[in-house]
Amino acid sequence: MYSVPFPLSPSLWSATASAPPATGKLEHNLHTDVIVIGGGYAGLSTALHLAQRGISVALFEAREIGFGASGRNGGQVIPGLKYDPDDLLKKFGNERGARLIDFAGKTADSVFDLINTHKMDVPHVRHGWIQGAHSDAALKLANQRAEQWARTGAAVRYLDKSQTQALLGTERYLGGWVDERAGAVQPLSYVRGLAKAAIDAGAKVFTDSPVQSLSSQAGKWTAHLGSGVKATADRVVMCTNAYGADLLPELKTTIIDANTFQVATPPLPEEIRRTILPQGHVCSDTRNLLLYFRLDHMGRLLMGGRGPFREPKGPEDWAHLERVLKKMFPQAASQPIDFRWCGRVAVTRDYLPHIHEPAPGLLIDIGCMGRGVGLQTSMGRALATYVATGNADVLPFEPRPIKSFPLYGLRRIYVNAVVTWYRLNDGGL
Ligand SMILES: Cc1cc2nc3c(=O)[nH]c(=O)nc-3n(C[C@H](O)[C@H](O)[C@H](O)COP(=O)(O)OP(=O)(O)OC[C@H]3O[C@@H](n4cnc5c(N)ncnc54)[C@H](O)[C@@H]3O)c2cc1C
Repeated sequence: MYSVPFPLSPSLWSATASAPPATGKLEHNLHTDVIVIGGGYAGLSTALHLAQRGISVALFEAREIGFGASGRNGGQVIPGLKYDPDDLLKKFGNERGARLIDFAGKTADSVFDLINTHKMDVPHVRHGWIQGAHSDAALKLANQRAEQWARTGAAVRYLDKSQTQALLGTERYLGGWVDERAGAVQPLSYVRGLAKAAIDAGAKVFTDSPVQSLSSQAGKWTAHLGSGVKATADRVVMCTNAYGADLLPELKTTIIDANTFQVATPPLPEEIRRTILPQGHVCSDTRNLLLYFRLDHMGRLLMGGRGPFREPKGPEDWAHLERVLKKMFPQAASQPIDFRWCGRVAVTRDYLPHIHEPAPGLLIDIGCMGRGVGLQTSMGRALATYVATGNADVLPFEPRPIKSFPLYGLRRIYVNAVVTWYRLNDGGL
């Protein structure tokens, strides 16, 4: 049974996005080469790149395009992974590690290239991302991180305290580094743009079409869509991430699905706006429970960060973020909050996306940490290339067996303990 607790609306993005392409339910049985499940960046990028290769593809989204994290996120388009280049070489070896550094370094390019190539109606900027350091230890790491990426030829640089404070418009950070490859998009407009591009390329995109179950027989896969309607295909690519809990129960135990929360002010008056992120950067910080903030294309200030593990009950669940926003940017303290919303990320045990291939013809991409705008767009292209060519070397990560989180049943207790520990160690705000 498919179930989702929290509606997409009203978020800042649903209130300001460009219109979605016309889509609807699958009404009759269908046969196609590839079925893609999930209408977020990963699924739509897979469908687009398959269709561009002339492969017939049908994508099923349970609710609406961008209903999951892709329509709710902060819209920061940041290259890289949780691990720094030297860590990737150590963890994956010289050859795969180098390929991974190359892949991760280009994930933001993939987003801006698609927006430009398909002339998507997506407000976007590319003025760079700043990672603000909240402690001396984090500042040291930020310095090393900038150094490592600079060695790969990336446009990055270390920022001292006064440079950071001037570029962010807050005195809360001790320094940081800037990655000029990064930028921002209206995330829901972008995922809708991907859907339109996929449809234009020949993909069939169905919404309001939850896949209830999957079965396979004699090398063919069947997706059962309810009311007796089904789709059959040679291959299935599953991109349901933190929103696909019930389709493959064993998959659910490989992630911790946690909410992250956001608030947004109205467009700021010009005299305040020019004091915050005056050069158009976006920012997230080095805290374990990280804070992320930016201005949108209308000059609204957005602040994102942790929230309760459970689904929100009311505006009080965003109160801590509103406090943070006021402390961080006292110049905007009198601004009201126009939008409060949240979405689920799928945290894996190593903070990397995982690819699984549990049966011939079934490919799964799961794991949606805070860099998914670029990462899942690029993952989709890699999955499509793999399906089309059969060459596993094009995948950034090797397919691996499905493996549960240890003590999955106790995850709420575990997460609450970790969050408390992080809050104590992250320092106050
Ligand atoms: C609040 C928030 C802020 C974030 N901020 C940023 C950021 O600033 N920058 C960044 O890079 N990343 C950010 N992320 C992460 C990023 O949004 C995700 O990594 C990315 O959107 C994941 O895309 P996806 O396509 O893998 O999954 P999703 O977008 O979650 O898509 C999965 C889709 O599958 C559908 N689905 C599930 N089950 C079924 C089924 N049975 N049948 C059919 N459809 C099904 C769901 O309805 C959903 O639409 C943020 C995430 C959140 C939640």
